[in-house]
Amino acid sequence: MPKKAKNLDKSKPSKSSRKIQTLKGFRDILPEHQKFWGFIFDKVRKTAEDFSYEKIDTPIIESTKLFERTVGESSDIVSKEMFTFEDKGGDKVTLRPEITAPVARAYIEHGMLTWPQPVKLWYWGPVFRYDKPQAGRYRQFYQFGFEVLGSDSNKVDSQLIIMANNLYKSLGLDIEVQINSIGCPECRKEYIKELKEFLKDKKLCTDCKKRLEVNPLRVLDCKETKCQEILVDAPPILDNLCEPCNKHFVKVLEGLDDGGVAYVLNPKLVRGLDYYNRTTFEFYLAGEDIGSQNALGGGGRYDYLVEQLGGRPTPAIGFASGVERAIIKLKEKDIKIKDETTADVFVAQLGEDARQKSLNLFNDLRKQGIKVRQAFAKKGLGDQMEAANRVNAKYTLILGQKEIMDETIILRDMDSGIQEVIPFEKAIPTIKQRLLSVEGGLKVYSENGNGNEESKQSIDNSKEVIKS
Ligand code: AMP
Repeated sequence: MPKKAKNLDKSKPSKSSRKIQTLKGFRDILPEHQKFWGFIFDKVRKTAEDFSYEKIDTPIIESTKLFERTVGESSDIVSKEMFTFEDKGGDKVTLRPEITAPVARAYIEHGMLTWPQPVKLWYWGPVFRYDKPQAGRYRQFYQFGFEVLGSDSNKVDSQLIIMANNLYKSLGLDIEVQINSIGCPECRKEYIKELKEFLKDKKLCTDCKKRLEVNPLRVLDCKETKCQEILVDAPPILDNLCEPCNKHFVKVLEGLDDGGVAYVLNPKLVRGLDYYNRTTFEFYLAGEDIGSQNALGGGGRYDYLVEQLGGRPTPAIGFASGVERAIIKLKEKDIKIKDETTADVFVAQLGEDARQKSLNLFNDLRKQGIKVRQAFAKKGLGDQMEAANRVNAKYTLILGQKEIMDETIILRDMDSGIQEVIPFEKAIPTIKQRLLSVEGGLKVYSENGNGNEESKQSIDNSKEVIKS
């Protein structure tokens, strides 16, 4: 048989030179989206500070056992969704599908039991689930979360939920809390018997048939319509709580009432992970449909997780919230976020000498706490003015050969287009004075982004210079 002729058509890219793209379910976060990310991160950090949570970062990869033992082998996450592989040393490792178990591991590993209790931690980072990608569902997504370890007080439950409510409010999102109690292992035993009895002859989906054997509680939050219909008449878990669990839950609800948080009792809310007990909850945008696709976040008590990982008994509670989901809601609600790419001043230059001098000027402005931008890689004035417009600069300082000779500089008001020539050494004080006189006064930014006394002092000094 004649050999198949090689593809000699050079206009077609060969397979190996085809464009490489992000993997399915993975996304780049482009510069134009960063303002949403920065906005949410700042609010989360501020909330954490206000409520005395300390930040923790855990590794992205952990031993697979950590999740198998805690999240549960029968959970969707462990049975279907983990990115698990063998590393070069032959160890089975997993890209973290959630961050509560890693935090509990860290609590034990770093002896946090000896710290003042409860230990309050928050985190922010990517998690990975081999899920079916669709709108609002990715294979890599970001979660922020808050965990309180070392307290079984019902007040901690309600305060955590009230704090979450405040946080979403600060983002401009009004939420509704769906809440339930799944009791403790003791009161659950009776309930599971009752539930199994109720479900035994029902025509459940294939997954639920397995769940009924391994973890019957999980049947309660099956998304299949036929299972949902069957579950309408299922016995509610809340009727089976033991006295201490019931008391705990009633107190949590009272705390939410006192805190003015809107909640809905949802006896089907068991959450998909093995480690939860007592209070479980999920956050939804007020007025939206309930369903895993729509939840902004969720969490619950995990009083036995630390012990399960080999630590001492440590009651705990926490929640995780998806960043991408929150961004989707911010966009849907058309919530405007201040564009951080605004500048007070832009420094433009023409010619080699001017470039060096304006670089020094740029640095001096920056050190004085003024938000200044430049585009020194561009040579033409037109390109630089375009860049100044892109960052919404209020003023542009323009330095050319002539200005260097005259020791002057051009100050252009970007709104009116009016230009004036001022002495070079008056450039900084003049800018400060102009910025002070615009509405809202001069925003002072130190190198870490906050206003500081030193910068305020230098502005006051500059007023003196201008007066003289
Ligand atoms: P969970 O740990 O499953 O309760 O998830 C907590 C939150 O993370 C959810 O409420 C979502 O906001 C977010 N989340 C969960 N899975 C995904 C996913 N595959 N893609 C994007 N966000 C997700």
